Order: sequence, then structure tokens, then C-alpha cells
Amino acid sequence: MTRIAIIGAGPSGMAQLRAFQSAKAKGQQVPEIVCFEKQNDWGGLWNYTWRTGVDQHGNPVHGSMYRYLWSNGPKEALEFADYTFDEHFKKAIASYPPRAVLWDYIKGRVEKVGVKDQVRFNTTVNNVEFNSDNQQFTVAVHDHYQNQTYAEQFDYVIVASGHFSTPNVPEFKGFNIFNGRILHAHDFRDAVQFKDKNILIVGSSYSAEDVGSQCYKYGAKHIYSCYRSQPMGYKWPKNWSEKQKLLHVDENTAYFADGTCAQVDAIILCTGYLHHFPYMAEDLCLKTHNCLYPEGLYQGVVWEKNPRLFYLGMQDQWYTFNMFDAQAWYVRDLILQQQTLPTQAEMQQHTQQWVQKEQKLKNAEQMIKFQGDYIKKLIAETDYPSFNIDAVNDIFMQWKKHKKENIMGFRDKVYRSVMTGKMAKPHHTSWLYALDDSLESYLDNDNHEPKAM
Ligand SMILES: Cc1cc2nc3c(=O)[nH]c(=O)nc-3n(C[C@H](O)[C@H](O)[C@H](O)COP(=O)(O)OP(=O)(O)OC[C@H]3O[C@@H](n4cnc5c(N)ncnc54)[C@H](O)[C@@H]3O)c2cc1C
Repeated sequence: MTRIAIIGAGPSGMAQLRAFQSAKAKGQQVPEIVCFEKQNDWGGLWNYTWRTGVDQHGNPVHGSMYRYLWSNGPKEALEFADYTFDEHFKKAIASYPPRAVLWDYIKGRVEKVGVKDQVRFNTTVNNVEFNSDNQQFTVAVHDHYQNQTYAEQFDYVIVASGHFSTPNVPEFKGFNIFNGRILHAHDFRDAVQFKDKNILIVGSSYSAEDVGSQCYKYGAKHIYSCYRSQPMGYKWPKNWSEKQKLLHVDENTAYFADGTCAQVDAIILCTGYLHHFPYMAEDLCLKTHNCLYPEGLYQGVVWEKNPRLFYLGMQDQWYTFNMFDAQAWYVRDLILQQQTLPTQAEMQQHTQQWVQKEQKLKNAEQMIKFQGDYIKKLIAETDYPSFNIDAVNDIFMQWKKHKKENIMGFRDKVYRSVMTGKMAKPHHTSWLYALDDSLESYLDNDNHEPKAM
């Protein structure tokens, strides 16, 4: 029987499990699937269990999730087309759920259809090689339950191990003598640690914005953030100063390109992540920077040099969960031979057209539409329920506008679901004052009087 290995049971790997299950439910013959997951539960970085830098097996923790994280984009932009928030929670909820609520939602869809027995938990993939003689992959793993290694043969491999795990860590002059803590966003766990401290955030991306906002919310004394090329440019609170490039530091002071300096207690490097697949043989290993259309992946998922190998979720992400679905359904149909692939040269040419298009994009609006177009095309190829992607693009535009208006208040806005047409219900407490991020508190909207909106 044909065998498929999926590496990782985060949102991408779960989308792949769900895609095959939906074909099976329609009476199609589906290959044997084994999903390897190194944590002891599914959900990827939404399954937040780590507090230190290593997991229970002594390996570097996979996830860059932290305590108190609330969705940084509206849930209406990531909603599954085949399993809505209303179906899961049985009532309207607000638009920016905290981590535990999103974890509950993504688990709900796959728990309902019973695919968990296809996942081998606590099992780390250590090596993947392809044997051209028998056209099979050898996948070598470490089973941490039994503390033993073994290898199995597969006809297809789907890499769904995420790409926000391995920090990109720049070095600045003086780091070796700085007296405070220096950490990468990957190791940021809890903003409460920075209460009453002066912190410096290096970078101007989502992590910089969100890690800084967390520190503000939980009582940091002053936040300095610094950028290399573009400032984030929001209307920051009084105790947040945006600075030009960091030049160097000494024991307790950071020096910036505009000639100013600031005394800081800690430095948080929000300097991005590296696509890193140490378990893949060299000829199978995706090498890319964080972008919307990685080179070498036809339709954003097929490894052009060997189309028995697929990568899910490797793009820079405006869209997330429903993009992973679109990809997983397409990969499923290729494996089930309901789709055919062009020649390698044609695949490469097709990818180049998208790559060149991406290079011409000038702003966030164009990038969002570009990713929307990519998803539209994938969905048109499969039976994944079609949805109004232009309407989702509009939600992203509103989100950008709301952030410009009030960076500490945008999470209080609500949006209409593209899938159900229903409006979200405002949360009982404004994000800035909602210190309890538990599922129970979030869903308990009926017993709270709205305050501080
Ligand atoms: C800090 C942070 C905040 C984010 N916030 C949002 C947000 O608010 N909204 C949003 O939509 N998206 C957000 N994202 C984007 C995030 O990438 C996606 O939501 C989603 O988690 C990606 O799913 P994934 O399955 O591709 O990867 P992951 O969630 O990273 O899951 C990958 C899985 O693979 C497993 N794995 C890795 N290596 C191996 C191995 N060798 N063997 C076996 N298993 C392995 C991991 O344990 C993990 O379970 C955020 C990302 C980060 C880093």
C-alpha cells in the first residue's frame, strides 16, 4: 500500500490529515498516513507547553509561542471554510481570540473526524533520504516514549514542521559586555518578567510590535524599539519610543544611528527566523528566506526536483489556517492522482513568474492580494469549499487601518465572518485590560459587563 509521512502535527499537518479524511469520507481510497510529531499533543505552536529553552527530551523547543498571546489578526481572516467558529463554539465570540481559544478551534475540527490515531506523538524525525532505486523515502525517527530510533519507508513525504522556530540572531558590538538580559523573541515567554524595566526591542516586524505591546500591557517602564530600514510608525503610547538603527551597546546603554542613546535593562531581538530543516538530506532541503513565494516549490508546495516531496506552510503568512487547507487539499489530490503535474521545466517557469511578480510588490495591500490570488488558484483546483477571498482581503485592509488608528486598541474591533455572514460579538473586556487569557474567561462573555472599551 502507498504510504505517506507527514512531519509535524501543527495547523499545517492537521490540515493535511483533515484533507485526506475528507476524501475518505467521500468514499475514496486513501493511502496509509503516518504523521510524526515531536511534542506530546497536536496544534504546533498553539499547543504551548514550554517555559524553558529545551523540551522534556532536552531538544531546543520548537515553538516561539508565549504566554498571553492573542491573535494578531482577525479570526475571520483565518477561519476554515469547512468548520466555522460558530460551529465550534456554538455562539458568536470576538474577533481576536487568545492562544488557548485558537488551539481549541483547530483541535475541534480534527477531533470531530477522528484522525488522531494517525499521529505518532513524542516522535522526532531525525533524517529523511530518498532512494532513487526504489523511489522511496527512508524516514528515521526517535520515539521518545520508548527511547529508541527506527526507520520506515514511505512513497511520499509532506514537511509541515513550520518555519518560525530557528531564530535569526544578529550580533551587535558590545553584546559581550552588556549587563542585562539579551534574548531572541523565540525565547520570550512572559511579558510580566519585564514589568518596571526599560526594554529595547530590535526589529520592526510583527514580533517587534507584539512583544513590545505585551511588555507595555504588562507594565514595562519604557519601551524603545529600533528599526533598520522602516519604522513601524504607529501612534505609540508615551512610554514607547521608536529609534533608528541600533549601532552598539555598552554595559547598560544602547546607542542609535540618530545619535541618541537609552539606558535599558534588557534587549529583545525580534529579528526573524530561519527556514531550517536539519533532518532533510541536502538534495531535499528547502532553502529560502521568508517570502510569499519560495523558489523551488511549484504551486508553493511541490518540491520541483522530486514531486513526491511537499512542503506546507513555508510562505510568509498573512493568510494562515485556510491557506494551509488550500495547500493540503491540493497536495492530497496530487497524491491521489486527481491532479497531474507539468514537466519540471514548466513547473520552474511557473514558479519564476510568481517570484518575479512578488518582487514587484510595493506594500502590504499588494502582498495580501498576491497571497489571496495564490489561494484562489489553489482552491479552484480542488473540492475545498470555495469562499470569498476578496472579502477576506478586505478584512485584512480594515485590520491594517484599525492598527494605524489605535495600535493598543485594534483587538477590540469585530468583523463579519465571510463563511457565515454573521458578525462577531465584542469581547467583555478591552484587550489592554484583559489580563486573563484563559479559554474559560474568554468564552464567559455573558457574565461580564463590557468595560474599558
Ligand atoms: C509567535 C508567533 C505568533 C503567531 N501568531 C499568529 C496569529 O496570531 N495568527 C495566525 O494566524 N498565525 C500566527 N502565527 C503564524 C503560525 O506560523 C501559524 O499560525 C501556524 O502555527 C503555522 O502552522 P505549522 O503547522 O506550519 O507550524 P507549527 O505551528 O510551527 O507546527 C509545526 C509542528 O511540527 C513539529 N515538528 C517540528 N519539527 C519536527 C520534527 N523534526 N519531527 C516531528 N515533529 C516536528 C512541531 O513540534 C510542531 O508541532 C504566529 C507565529 C508565531 C511564531
